[in-house]
Amino acid sequence: MTVDLLIRDAYIYVDRDHEIADGWLAIKDRRVHSVGAEVATAPPARTILSARGQLVTPGLINAHHHMYQNLTRAYAPVTNGTLFEWLTGLYPLWADLDAESVYLSTCVAMVELLMGGCTTSMDHMYVHPKPFLIDAQFRAARDIGFRFYATRGSMTRSVKDGGLPPASVVQDEDTILADSERLVAAFHDASPGAMGRVALAPCSLFSVSERIMTESARLAEKHDLRLHTHLAEDPDEDRYCADVYGCTPTEYFERVGWATPRSWVAHYIYPSSDEIDRLAHAGVCTAQCPCSNMMIGGGAADAMGMRRRGMRVGLGCDGSASTDHGSMWLETRMALLLGRFRNGPHSMSARDALDMATRGGAACLGWEDEIGHLRPGACADLVIWKMSDIARAGALSDPVEAWLRCAPAVAGTTIVNGAILVEDGVPVMSNLAEILRDHAREARRIQRL
Ligand SMILES: [Zn+2]
Repeated sequence: MTVDLLIRDAYIYVDRDHEIADGWLAIKDRRVHSVGAEVATAPPARTILSARGQLVTPGLINAHHHMYQNLTRAYAPVTNGTLFEWLTGLYPLWADLDAESVYLSTCVAMVELLMGGCTTSMDHMYVHPKPFLIDAQFRAARDIGFRFYATRGSMTRSVKDGGLPPASVVQDEDTILADSERLVAAFHDASPGAMGRVALAPCSLFSVSERIMTESARLAEKHDLRLHTHLAEDPDEDRYCADVYGCTPTEYFERVGWATPRSWVAHYIYPSSDEIDRLAHAGVCTAQCPCSNMMIGGGAADAMGMRRRGMRVGLGCDGSASTDHGSMWLETRMALLLGRFRNGPHSMSARDALDMATRGGAACLGWEDEIGHLRPGACADLVIWKMSDIARAGALSDPVEAWLRCAPAVAGTTIVNGAILVEDGVPVMSNLAEILRDHAREARRIQRL
């Protein structure tokens, strides 16, 4: 029996428990068909790719992002603000988003993610000045061939209700709930190997009404969906919750019915140890965003400490306007640096960081059976990494540590659903120049330049 593609002569990181030096991996029908060590045991293949000396890993999984924000990257007036100052400065600009600008920003984000070795990403789209913006994101994902987990974000509280955003980007409760149902019916594919899924994602505890939190949890139960939000990201959030709800963010999260295995949260920087234990026990996962945390200059969660307490932790780019890049390789490296800076040299290895970026992300998305590993039967989402000969010189003893320590690594080949989307470090998308030209026009319009 002939397979579609055979990658050979590579160092294959199948998952945390299985690595094959000088191994091969076969892809058939958009799935990992088999892996092995002896090339003589590999099946015949229509296409053979030699990856001599290269590291192959599962595609990285981005568990928290806001793709539209690449229209306002490194926006000078707010670069030195706090999180709340940054949000307040940018919301009036984001009020000008429309389907065209969201389509273009999603294309740019997905291509950038592919080049950084990411094959599945969620997106937290919570600004809705116009309808059908997430529909535009699904168009982009289909045009590129990217595995996309959309989340229907929402905000109900504008400035007049004590929130941060202007009235033009928030929506009323009934509109949010009806559009959530519509998107799930149109785009959520629960079947194996799906290329598009939808989760429900009120922006944060301080930006939506209590009804949106409880109704989202109810809808998720009804349609078997995942739930996502920002949680305990900033000390200002603690003060807001104490004033408005008379409790901590975690207590409120529990009160509105979100402490379930359906939920994953972004950041989770300021809980007590007891609160971490409670959410870990409830099966809630966390997405850490190391670059965003460090760029904002606040705190960061102790990701390895959370893992020891039984919480599953994934990684996310978060941004782009807070971090301004979309490389999951860079996030993974930063997770390693942040963990070791915090807890010392014995606390964390490159494999721990890679495990977060793969199986941890898959846990956040509730998709561990099919993505985040390369065991036979997994979706054929993987990366052959590329490092310059200069950067690799002298790195002889551990390809996984070398990958994260020695250099900027970029995806040489990125494969999603069995299709090569980045080849020799270059995206295969044919109209990329046109997309970038139009993205520049939309970014200028939104930044009023
Ligand atoms: Zn975020």
